[in-house]
Amino acid sequence: MFVVFLGAPGAGKGTQAAVIAKKLDVPHIATGDLFRQAVQKGTKLGLLAKSYMEKGALVPDEVTIQMLSERLSQPDCKEGCVFDGFPRTLDQAKALDGVMATLKSKIDKAIDIEVPDAELLKRLGGRWICRKCQTPYHQVFSPPKVKGVCDKCGGELYQRADDNEETIKNRLKVYHSQTTPILNFYKDKLVTIDGAVEIAKVTEQIVKAMRVK
Ligand SMILES: [Zn+2]
Repeated sequence: MFVVFLGAPGAGKGTQAAVIAKKLDVPHIATGDLFRQAVQKGTKLGLLAKSYMEKGALVPDEVTIQMLSERLSQPDCKEGCVFDGFPRTLDQAKALDGVMATLKSKIDKAIDIEVPDAELLKRLGGRWICRKCQTPYHQVFSPPKVKGVCDKCGGELYQRADDNEETIKNRLKVYHSQTTPILNFYKDKLVTIDGAVEIAKVTEQIVKAMRVK
């Protein structure tokens, strides 16, 4: 089964995508990881992607699509995979359909994890990261034992500049405007999940909707 995960930043999309991939026993394909691996391996596409990332620019869709296409043609993706972080735009969704068609396959389900913006603001606004080891904390959901100090390495915790309220609101606005057309594009295979509940409950809903064990 080929599954696409949609959800705003902070909706828990990555977490759920990983869990569901495991349950389905198919690869979890996160585009961020795909980039990092390709860069590490120094593949042609990896180097190309790196040249954009170093400039702080977005990797163009055609590069991402080629990378996904290579990944999908590997044998472990034969029975399916879970996409995480892609597509983010309608153009990407259409391009992904094109890649799937060349592999004589299709996207079976699109899982949309919905969380109200007010809740997302609460989740995203309380993020703290360790300067040394990058361990993430949250002042409400997973606070460190000592305020401002990393449990693991004693490093100093800081808040990213883009985790302030205005920036988050803006990110959510961009997310909604880009995602609404995708939801429409996938309307025949769309499953809407309430993401404002605890993690296990979210998983439960997805499993039920997909009828996987
Ligand atoms: Zn640390």
